[in-house]
Amino acid sequence: MKPDLLIVGAGLYGLTMAERFANECGKNILIIDKRDHIGGNCYSEFDPETGIECHKYGAHLFHTSNEKVWQYVNRFTTFTKYIHKVYATHNHEVYPLPVNLGTINQFFHSAYTPDEAKIKIAEQAASASEHPKNLIEQGISLIGRPLFDAFIKDYTAKQWQTPAEELSPDIIKRLPVRYNYDNRYFNDTYEGLPTNGYEAWFKNMLESCGDRVEVKLNTDYFSDPEIQTLREQGIFTIYTGPIDQFFDYVFGELNWRSLNFEKEVIDVSDFQGCPVMNYADLEPKYTRIHEFKHFHSERTFDPQYANTAYAENSGKTVIVREYSKTWHRGEEPYYPVNTKEDRKRLEQYNQLAAKNHHIVFGGRLGAYQYYDMDKVIAAALDKFTELKSSITFS
Ligand code: FAD
Ligand code: UDP
Repeated sequence: MKPDLLIVGAGLYGLTMAERFANECGKNILIIDKRDHIGGNCYSEFDPETGIECHKYGAHLFHTSNEKVWQYVNRFTTFTKYIHKVYATHNHEVYPLPVNLGTINQFFHSAYTPDEAKIKIAEQAASASEHPKNLIEQGISLIGRPLFDAFIKDYTAKQWQTPAEELSPDIIKRLPVRYNYDNRYFNDTYEGLPTNGYEAWFKNMLESCGDRVEVKLNTDYFSDPEIQTLREQGIFTIYTGPIDQFFDYVFGELNWRSLNFEKEVIDVSDFQGCPVMNYADLEPKYTRIHEFKHFHSERTFDPQYANTAYAENSGKTVIVREYSKTWHRGEEPYYPVNTKEDRKRLEQYNQLAAKNHHIVFGGRLGAYQYYDMDKVIAAALDKFTELKSSITFS
């Protein structure tokens, strides 16, 4: 049967669109992905040796303050009570992140009260611009020069390998700064991890659609002959791959950051005592180490995991060292660098995209936006509402 709609990419944007069009409009959908699994960058798999759930493309923590998104995702999965906490190693010492009163007092060997710490940081941020135009100005205005130099400067250099003057202040505004001892990494109302893992969540989304959604994996939009035929027929398409690739880089490449993940199974029950340790200095070269068993400590007591590899290998742990690297064609694009030049180029691509009335560009790669999961779901839900009354299917 010919589908009504083609969705390129089985990440959260594509899955949300597929679920909505299938269940709310009764449309038949073909969703393709060039990878061998659904879920895009949020995909996780259970390590066969230890039974520990590992996020294949870097740690993914769900958090949102968007009520509509929270209601939506809870239709397909429950969430654990996991609250994300991160620590940072700087100069052979471990500090809590994001910057909070604990970080400030440890760093300055002091015992400031919240008000005293605010005065201290305000003094150190005095030279900062009132209207920060880039990541450095924004960082210094938030936490002052000494803390910026210790926790942001070198980490950001490793992560972005782009002059910080060219990076958007928004990158650093993601991180809260607190004048109390609360070191939750996020500020959102809702937070947790899908109880049975990310893949179970995404499978539930697809199963809710019955046979209205067909998924084809290992299928590339640009080279698969069957897809070529659908393209020639002008099928309505939701495309969540990189927008510059779609237009064959006619205006040049957008800048992306890519990542290398180095996985290791280690014969200790606890390697670092926390889920994520950031490395704030230029050495070591990796930006952070993820230790995945800490994401689901509740599984230790869950009878479902008794007598499984998870329980039997409790003396082992899985860690992943994350390295950032410059993206080259053919590699996985993860983070939009989003310099001024990129924004100009994106505008040119967006103008071209607007002329393709039967194609919607969405998601992190299609929109070239540093979206978190909740933001990408919100964008898909909004776009669906706009499209459902306006598109005609061929
Ligand atoms: P993707 O997940 O990238 O999916 C796009 C899909 O399209 C991919 O599966 C790709 O294979 C497919 N595709 C591309 N081109 C083609 C083609 N030509 N043919 C067929 N298929 C194609 N968000 C959070 O909320 N919390 C976090 O903790 C968090 N951590 C992150 C950590 C890292 C390292 C990264 C990179 C991102 C993180 N995110 C996090 C963001 C999260 O990954 C994104 O919000 C989400 O994955 C975006 O979904 P998407 O559908 O737009 O894109
Ligand atoms: N950042 C930093 N030091 C840290 C953590 C973050 O300098 O220890 C900066 C860095 O520029 C990073 C940005 O803050 O890219 C956003 O951090 P976040 O942890 O939100 O990044 P993500 O998880 O998306 O990679």
